[in-house]
Amino acid sequence: MNEKMLALGNNRSIIRELFEFSKKQKAILGEDKVYDFSLGNPSVPPHKALNEELINLLQTKPDPYLHGYTSAQGDNEVRKRIAKNLNDRFNTNYEFTDFYMTCGAAASLCITFKALTEKPTDEIFAIAPYFTEYKVFVESAGATFKLVPADLKDFQINFNELERMINKNTKAIIVNSPNNPTGVIYSKESLLKLANLLNEKAKEYNHPIYIICDEPYREIAYDNLEVPHIPNLYKDTVICYSYSKSLSLPGDRIGYILVPKACAESKDLYAACLGAGRALGYVCAPSLFQHVIELCADLTSDMNEYAKNRDLLYKGLTKIGYECVYPQGAFYLFVKALEPDANKFMEKAKKYNLIVVPSDNFGVTGYVRLAYCVSSSTIINSMEAFKKLYKEYNK
Ligand code: PLP
Repeated sequence: MNEKMLALGNNRSIIRELFEFSKKQKAILGEDKVYDFSLGNPSVPPHKALNEELINLLQTKPDPYLHGYTSAQGDNEVRKRIAKNLNDRFNTNYEFTDFYMTCGAAASLCITFKALTEKPTDEIFAIAPYFTEYKVFVESAGATFKLVPADLKDFQINFNELERMINKNTKAIIVNSPNNPTGVIYSKESLLKLANLLNEKAKEYNHPIYIICDEPYREIAYDNLEVPHIPNLYKDTVICYSYSKSLSLPGDRIGYILVPKACAESKDLYAACLGAGRALGYVCAPSLFQHVIELCADLTSDMNEYAKNRDLLYKGLTKIGYECVYPQGAFYLFVKALEPDANKFMEKAKKYNLIVVPSDNFGVTGYVRLAYCVSSSTIINSMEAFKKLYKEYNK
C-alpha cells in the first residue's frame, strides 16, 4: 500500500465528517432541527433552461455524440463557445486551442500542478485561509506546498510574508477569488500589487512565476462588485475553472483549464497539461456535460438566492454580537469563534445542532466557516440556536 494514500483515505476531511454527523443527527431529530452549514453544495438548482437543453439533447442527438469519447482535451465546438463567452466579457482573444476540458476544478488543479512542477523542491504557494485540498493536490504531484499566512486585517494578500517567502524554487501561486472560506474578493489593487511583485521576482530568478487562478466562484459576486480577470493584469496566469458552483453542477464534474497564448511558455505548458491529463487518467471530460456547456455557456444559476442568504446570515449574526468577515462573493461566511480554539467552539455549537467548520483546516486559527448555500428557512430557524450559543459565552 502507498502509506501516504492510505493515510489520506483513512483520515477523512473534517467537512465530510461533520456532514456525516449532521446526517445522523437529522435522522434522529428531524431534518429541520439540525442547522448544517458544513458543505459547499449549491442549494440553488440549475437554470431551468439548462435542464431543458439537457432533455432536448438527450431526445434529439444521436450517439456517439452524446456519450462517446471526445478528443482528450475536449470537443472543439464546446471550447469555441467557452472562448467566445470569455472574449465577450473580458475583452480577450482566447482561442479554443487554449482550453482543456476537465472534470471540474479539482481535476483542473491536479493537472496544472503536475504540468508545472518536476522536483520535490518545486514550490506551489497558496494564501491562507485556503481550500484545504490544495495541499493534497500539490503534494500528490510530488511538489512542495507552501502557505502564505493570512492578512487578518482584511483577508486580502499578506504581501510582507509573500515577498519574504518567494525564492528560486517558487513555481506558482494559487489565487482563489472570490475566496473559500472568507467570501472576500481580492481587489484590483491587491492583484496589481501581486503582479508587480511576481514580475520583479520572476526577473530576479530568471524564470516565470505563474498565477494559478482557481475560480469556481467567479460568477458569485455581490453588490455588482467586479471580479478582476487576472490574465488581463498578469500575463503568466493559468485559469482553473469549474461549473460546479456557477451552474450548480458539482456532481456532473465539468470545468476547464485555460492556458492563454500570452502566458510564458504557453505552448509547452498546454502540452504538459495534455501530458499530465493523460498521466492522471483525466482525458475526455464527460461528453454529455461538455455539450450542455456548449449550449449554456452564458447562463448562471440564480445568484440572488445566495445574496439573500448572505444578508440574512450576516445581519442576523452580527446583530447577536458575532464578528464576521463581510462576504463579497462565494457562499461562505467566516465568523470569529467565541473562544481561541475553533475546534472547541465547533463542539459547543454542535450541542445546539449548529454544524460549522473550524478554520484550522483552512490555515487560520480562531474562526469557523459557515456555508450558506442552504435554504433561507435553515438560516432563519438557526438564529435562536446561535443566540443560545452566544449566551453560553456571555453569561
Ligand atoms: N476550489 C475551491 C476553492 C473550491 O471551493 C472547490 C469546491 O468546493 C474546488 C476547487 C473543487 O471544485 P470542483 O467541484 O469543481 O472540483
